[in-house]
Amino acid sequence: MTMTLAIVGRPNVGKSTLFNRLVGKRLALVDDQPGVTRDLREGPGRLADLRFTVIDTAGLEEANDDSLQGRMRRLTERAVDMADVCLFMIDARTGVTPTDEVFAEILRKRADHVLLAANKGEGSAADAGVLEAFALGLGEPIRLSAEHGEGLNDLYAQLQPLADLF
Ligand code: GDP
Ligand code: MG
Repeated sequence: MTMTLAIVGRPNVGKSTLFNRLVGKRLALVDDQPGVTRDLREGPGRLADLRFTVIDTAGLEEANDDSLQGRMRRLTERAVDMADVCLFMIDARTGVTPTDEVFAEILRKRADHVLLAANKGEGSAADAGVLEAFALGLGEPIRLSAEHGEGLNDLYAQLQPLADLF
């Protein structure tokens, strides 16, 4: 068995950037397979010696405001149910938003294992947002810069013990 890791969070926080970094060029899009929604992308992920399946929740970006909340909830719940571990991502530059709180609530209720990532963590502009993330009650935030590849060692440190469970 390999662990399945779902990256969830509101649009534009950097989920797909991290997905692409973990999957690299090994991405196998499953969008066209029967029964697989195009709103979830799946690929074989790698981080140092860890091997796992990564799910990226996409497809929310095009939704208008009216439909976003419901789609977000349904899509996130599907990803959570498929995953062994959820990586909940916020934008550390923006800090915690009301939409982030909605996600956090879904994860607290539904997910077995949650890791919290405060992305866009490069530079001092992210300091306050990283601290805010502690208040979500989802453990110690992993300060990441998906774009610059920073913080992957801290992601590894939290992911590795979980990988042993699956
Ligand atoms: P998604 O909607 O959550 O999948 O977010 P994307 O991965 O599409 O990223 C949204 C935007 O944030 C893009 O312009 C990315 O280049 C940018 N981005 C992603 N990660 C980082 C990061 O670590 N730092 C900064 N400054 N920008 C980032
Ligand atoms: Mg995306």
